[in-house]
Amino acid sequence: MSDVHTFAGGPLDRASHLRTNSEWLSTQLADPASRIVPLWKQQPLVTRRRDGIGWLSPVDLADYLSSGVPTIFLGNDNDGIAHFAIDITVFEEANKSEPFIQVGRFMDLRSIALQLPLGDPSTLGTAKAILDWNARHGFCAVCGNKTEMRDAGYMRKCSDDTCNAEHFPRTDPVVIMLAVRGDQCLVGRQAMFPQHMYSCLAGFVEPGENIEEAVRREIMEEAGIKVGDVSYHSTQPWPWPSSLMIGCFAEAESEEITIDGLELEEARWVSRSVLRDVLNGATDQGVLLPPPMAIGFQLIKAFAEMD
Ligand SMILES: [Zn+2]
Repeated sequence: MSDVHTFAGGPLDRASHLRTNSEWLSTQLADPASRIVPLWKQQPLVTRRRDGIGWLSPVDLADYLSSGVPTIFLGNDNDGIAHFAIDITVFEEANKSEPFIQVGRFMDLRSIALQLPLGDPSTLGTAKAILDWNARHGFCAVCGNKTEMRDAGYMRKCSDDTCNAEHFPRTDPVVIMLAVRGDQCLVGRQAMFPQHMYSCLAGFVEPGENIEEAVRREIMEEAGIKVGDVSYHSTQPWPWPSSLMIGCFAEAESEEITIDGLELEEARWVSRSVLRDVLNGATDQGVLLPPPMAIGFQLIKAFAEMD
């Protein structure tokens, strides 16, 4: 298995101790050597050749920076160069022409991720998740007053000085799991999936539950299958909007499927040999798998490759 899934393994040092150093941040945001990626409607700027992040300099973005739109610190590279992301959605809402067209295009991160160098999807996923969280949390969940961005985007503070509540970016744990029984595994499809596509079952971890309990509950709820042992495989950050996918294998103790009809349209057992054929390009098995950047694909592939 690969150690690091798409959207993990970013190359920048997050240098979180610098997020509260406003003097240092201002200096970096005025330094032409610093790198800033603009996001427009959550879509990052990608180079014209689609081979990397469309980094710009503070000089290119002077108008945007002075307008005060949300700008977050992403971290430093190996040479100590500071990297930022800026949300230009509001600024450009009224402007029909796409900005920075000479540099690149604003692209949906999911559709471009696999074409980017390793690590870039993680950097852009962080940028998207943090900017999106800031955009959605303009008001205090405690008292309803406005919040203000702090810590270079990693905290929002209530502006009401009797409240002063601090709010932090969310990461929502999601279990995604493959129930296995002998050489069969359980896959399901949602109505929104492309025809014949199947993947692992998945669901949010609920308060008061550990990962194993969430895995057992979700498989029982969605497919009516009883599960015993649960083992951890790997995790993947998934910035839509802010999930952490926790990939597991689960030992099924029953076989009869009863789908809930809500989350799943269909669930079925598929054998390891069928999966091996599909992974080798067979199209006559009536099974399509999710794209390789999804942890669901990686779990199914890992099962198929087990002896
Ligand atoms: Zn408040």
